[in-house]
Amino acid sequence: MSEDKRILQEFKLDPDNELRFEVETKNEKVYLTLKSGLAEVFGTELVKAKTYEFTAGAKVAVYTWHGCVVEIKGKTDVIYTAKETPMVVYSNCHGALEFMRADAEKDNKRGPIAMIVGPCDVGKSTVCRILLNYAVRMGRRPIFVDLDIAQGQISIPGTIGALMIERPAAIDEGFSQEAPLVYHVGHKSPATNPTLFNMLVLQLANTVKERLEVNKKTRSSGVIINTCGWIKGTGYKQLINSAKGFEVDVIMVLDQERLYNELVRDMPNFVKVVFLPKSGGLNVQRVQEVNQGIRELENISMELQKNSLYPHSFDVKFSEVKIYKIGAPALPDSCLPLGMKADDHLTKLVMLTPNAGLLHHILAVSFSEKDDDDIILSHVAGFVCVTNVDPERQIITLLSPQPKPLPNNTLILSELQFMDSH
Ligand code: ADP
Repeated sequence: MSEDKRILQEFKLDPDNELRFEVETKNEKVYLTLKSGLAEVFGTELVKAKTYEFTAGAKVAVYTWHGCVVEIKGKTDVIYTAKETPMVVYSNCHGALEFMRADAEKDNKRGPIAMIVGPCDVGKSTVCRILLNYAVRMGRRPIFVDLDIAQGQISIPGTIGALMIERPAAIDEGFSQEAPLVYHVGHKSPATNPTLFNMLVLQLANTVKERLEVNKKTRSSGVIINTCGWIKGTGYKQLINSAKGFEVDVIMVLDQERLYNELVRDMPNFVKVVFLPKSGGLNVQRVQEVNQGIRELENISMELQKNSLYPHSFDVKFSEVKIYKIGAPALPDSCLPLGMKADDHLTKLVMLTPNAGLLHHILAVSFSEKDDDDIILSHVAGFVCVTNVDPERQIITLLSPQPKPLPNNTLILSELQFMDSH
């Protein structure tokens, strides 16, 4: 055991204080144990004497309403106690949502649909997690919607999705991913194909509304929607579209007054727009471009290995699968067939012959049983990764979380790539 791993620190936190730490070093593990009092990590209560493990990439805040003593073992890259946190403000937001849920329950109506917006790295996902955890701790069953295709918390990057929340998030692994509803966009930025993104957001919104209709408890619990940090120009228009599609009641704007003012101006009066401060724990700005790529691969790698620590690898014949790409090259206006709009090509389904260009790409396994545009709007069963294409034997090799056969032979190409480092 190295010297560093034996580092043991005890922290006594006063009420309304937060211990923040980060683990950056690769292969490093940091262990957290609550010794006494009460504490939570992003809304999930810590169990006394239980040890939680964190690995490289973890940025954690242990918050206490009443005071506590925690022990940290291992080498952290940053560790300090913060006395100023926005937790009281976030808790008040939860209180307001809870008020609306109680009303909705009484009248058998739909509970609050709340959307969290803001630039990158202001804690949008974290606020969603806190609000969902608090709701579920009150016995609610809200739906979590994630429209942030750069991070893809519910599935992998390049997707949007929804998940019914039935228990608090695990401290180290987040919410349990049972039966998520996932739509495949196939790009890591909503800017690449905004038409497709908007179409799928509306499709997801309609499916979520149907789920609210059929489940009374979920209906009154409402929905919490996470969004991506692209908030200017087309990104802003997409936020507005998403808000309309989901018929939001509340928009919580993190950190940016300009965005707050724009939304107050552009949203109808019945939509409450509230401004929330970001946590001081987020002051270190990530180098977006570089880290985004790393996070993407990490997320995909996690997803591919989550269902089974040893993903399956198998061959399929070219003739056994149909691989599609969404979006065809643009036609010049003068060549557009009658009735076709200039951006219709963005949502055109193009069948691909397997070729070397597929190598390392992620493919979504569609649920669609049809051969038409239904494929674009259909949700997906999961993802596989192409690890070899052999044109001579007419075979492609896939890495999959499940053994053969594939749940469906309709596959859709994603822009995202994954290379297995093992
Ligand atoms: P966004 O969704 O806006 O991109 P996230 O919620 O993903 O931002 O937060 C970015 C990172 O900051 C995450 O790793 C999260 O764990 C961490 N984080 C959030 N709140 C705090 C806090 N209070 N102290 C320390 N780190 C935090």
